[in-house]
Amino acid sequence: MPKVATVRGDVDTETLGQTLMHEHILNITPEIEKEYPDLSWIGGKDHVVRSVVETLREVKEHGIDTIVDCTALGHGRDIDAVRRINDQVDINIIVASGIYTYDHLPFFFLYGHPARTVDGKVEDILTDMFIRDITEGIAGSGVKAGVIKTATDRAGVTPNVERILRAVARAHRETGVPITTHTVVETRNGLDQQRIFAEEGVDLSRVIIGHSGDSTDLEYLRTLLDAGSTIGADRFGLYLPDMGLPEMDVRISTLAALCAEGYSDRIVLSHDVTCYSDWEPQAFGGHLKDWVQTHVTDEVVPAMLAKGITEEQVSQMMTGNPRRMFEAQGSY
Ligand SMILES: [Zn+2]
Repeated sequence: MPKVATVRGDVDTETLGQTLMHEHILNITPEIEKEYPDLSWIGGKDHVVRSVVETLREVKEHGIDTIVDCTALGHGRDIDAVRRINDQVDINIIVASGIYTYDHLPFFFLYGHPARTVDGKVEDILTDMFIRDITEGIAGSGVKAGVIKTATDRAGVTPNVERILRAVARAHRETGVPITTHTVVETRNGLDQQRIFAEEGVDLSRVIIGHSGDSTDLEYLRTLLDAGSTIGADRFGLYLPDMGLPEMDVRISTLAALCAEGYSDRIVLSHDVTCYSDWEPQAFGGHLKDWVQTHVTDEVVPAMLAKGITEEQVSQMMTGNPRRMFEAQGSY
């Protein structure tokens, strides 16, 4: 029986159930938390932990069995706090290795540990760190990462981003855990990610091209899907049409078209909500009433059914496809 690593240890993939494939539990900025903890934990750490536990209990009550926490290095990962939260709520949380940046890399990587080629092979401490998260656990906690996260934003594939994409690809091939990404659909840079992963020998069916659900460009989406990848329709609730982030109905119409063409076996759903962040500006998400982790089960799924997406297709996107992504295992 295939297993996947979660915060509470390995679980059988068949027990994952309905899964939100791209969320965040905590974003805690490490140096701020260390030196100015009152600025990171507003109201105190105990208070924050309690409120996130309450949020996740509600998510579970609304039918979600598993959350993939796509919070990598650079995004504010705090594995001990996530574990403390998960101790108090009965939900599977799969956590991420990887690194989250749009371009900037700390001097540690740039100057202390640049990638180098030895005997024709690239050696990069990034790859070693990702593999350590997956095989030994994160930050000495023993909690193993079950997914590798990477980002390509508006800056595109800068030299730093390319270094990261290739390091992620190597760690994936070494460990077999799936890759999940952040993209910007206006620049169609999911295609750049696929190109670099393919150059590194990655089987693109092991990759989730994230935030693709922000796009209404069916030609772009079909190209990603036809190359074998799964796409993340993973920002339900983040409705800011002026910023190119379409409303629910527009997103669902795009998915209904793809489902009608037979692509429901390569789509996963989520919100990209953070339960608690010390850096997300209130102005960004605070006023978005639907941007909560119960939105997909409560509003999106009924709206999908009303638009002609079938129960079976919903079940594929919520349960079957996540399970399949975690069941594709082994190095290659
Ligand atoms: Zn995210």
